Amino acid sequence: MRQLRLKGLGVSPGIAMGRAFILEQTEVAPAKVALSDAAEVDEEIQRFHRALHKSREQLLTLKERIASEVGGEHAYIFDAQILMLQDELLIGKTETKVRAEKVNVEWALQDVKESFDEIFRALEDAYIADRISDIGDVIRRVQVNLGHQQLQSLEGLQEKVVLVARDLTPSQAAQIEKSHVIGLAIDTASRTSHSIILARSLKIPAVIALHDLYFKVRNDDLVLVDGTEGEVVLNPPAAMIKEYFNKKQKYEDYQKELLKCAVLPSVTLDGVSILLQANIESALDIPFAVRCGAEGIGLFRTDYMILNHETGDPGESEQYEVYAEVARNVAPHSSVIRTADLGGDKVTFGDQASYARENNPILGLRAVRLCLKHRDFFKRQLRALLRAGSVGDLRILIPMVSGIGEIRQVKRLLEECQAELAAEGVPLGKRIPLGVMIEVPAAVAIADLLAREVDFFSIGTNDLIQHTLAVDRDNDSVSYLYEPLHPAILRSLERVLKAAADVDIRVNLCGEAASEPIFALIMIGLGLREFSMNPALVPVIKRVIRAVRVDALRDIAIGALERPTAQEVEEYVLERLVARFPDALMTVPGGVQGGG
Ligand code: PEP
Ligand code: MG
Repeated sequence: MRQLRLKGLGVSPGIAMGRAFILEQTEVAPAKVALSDAAEVDEEIQRFHRALHKSREQLLTLKERIASEVGGEHAYIFDAQILMLQDELLIGKTETKVRAEKVNVEWALQDVKESFDEIFRALEDAYIADRISDIGDVIRRVQVNLGHQQLQSLEGLQEKVVLVARDLTPSQAAQIEKSHVIGLAIDTASRTSHSIILARSLKIPAVIALHDLYFKVRNDDLVLVDGTEGEVVLNPPAAMIKEYFNKKQKYEDYQKELLKCAVLPSVTLDGVSILLQANIESALDIPFAVRCGAEGIGLFRTDYMILNHETGDPGESEQYEVYAEVARNVAPHSSVIRTADLGGDKVTFGDQASYARENNPILGLRAVRLCLKHRDFFKRQLRALLRAGSVGDLRILIPMVSGIGEIRQVKRLLEECQAELAAEGVPLGKRIPLGVMIEVPAAVAIADLLAREVDFFSIGTNDLIQHTLAVDRDNDSVSYLYEPLHPAILRSLERVLKAAADVDIRVNLCGEAASEPIFALIMIGLGLREFSMNPALVPVIKRVIRAVRVDALRDIAIGALERPTAQEVEEYVLERLVARFPDALMTVPGGVQGGG
């Protein structure tokens, strides 16, 4: 039997071994059928709408299944597909083709799909490529419902298999039963494609970017998938199987240890409590955050809820329901809700046009600036937050603040909303704390002034690093310069912590750097006591925290501030940590599986 070892990209950690099940990619081009008269054309259009309706019903069922099995945070994938089924361009172009050329709808739809593919492909963007695969998935479903094309079903698989595919559509991924599909080896796809996000949530080890495994594998070949290392081995020899079993055991032991750690207190060896909270993007993320041991929500990014809304503007009542649900489900802990951080790379409500005109959207009309321009939209969000404040411990966080004027305007609007609500007889709870994101260098420079205006700070290192070091956080060619341990960042943060301590307001750090152990430990040494992060990483950081002493971290942090480069900071801290707390950094990356 042929042995083969292929390197790909590990996108869902863990190790699995089983027989290959090859997902066939047979797509038959539809035949062109001429229609004879207007009556036939009308019947064809009705047939199209019946197929659209049936597809919608199926997607709603899939959405429900995913919501109940994996969590609602992933069900939005199908919302996007359901919306595509109502897309005027897709429907309009197909109908026009059927009418104008008097052809069958399968053929017209295929033609429209190809024209979309061509336009999107010219954009050469990974995100767009994923969306093409979503459109293809929806159109394939409609074609099946028109009676053309067979969808190979994954339902009813009897034994545990490793699924091998050229590509995996979200519809196919949604059919996967975890009890039968134990690993995924896929030739294409990307880390951010919806099917891979689903695989991660299902905790199925997965490797993508394998190029041509599909053509090399035979049904029933033994396939080993190492989703942590990004490797796939066909028919591994006995010695390798043994080695991988050992590795699998170690990985599973580590996962168990992390989950055990999740329920332990977040406290250092010398008894200092460190608050670890979760960053979420939907109320549906809360159960996972709780499972990971997060004590409250340090950052609810409301942007995605708004962007994914069918109108781009959920009204006050809809938002109130969401915020009240968060407050209720997170109680007795606190929840920090960040107001819309839209604009920049996240375009919404009628601003597409101005976005297109901005030469530098990341420095443009975004976040609090956009909200202060669209006051009605902003007030709806503030009113919803004020109302939900009576349900639990909610706090309001304002993004991208660069000057005192902005926060004063927000305060005035909040007062206005409060007065309106009081006049309407709406019951309000106690005053809701107001905070600002510290994520642009101007906010660092005036941290002492800002600290007197607000109740708390939340440090957004993702943007703060980008703006302080002038390094686009999404640009691969300069990513080597994106250094959380850069002395400019450490000094900025020292200044922010001091400004907050001087007037005794709380500070949380919610950028991705919060979950980088060395960075987090320096911050603790500088006095920070609150972090918020991807929930999957809470147990990892908690484990680190439980293995160190704050008194030693203080000295290490002071020494770190004197190192001239990020690399020297890292070496200096690492050396001292290993000498003082040899267990602290003995972790593997990845966090708890199931975070999506
Ligand atoms: C940040 O900038 O660090 C942050 C938490 O916000 P976002 O990643 O949403 O910009
Ligand atoms: Mg930010």
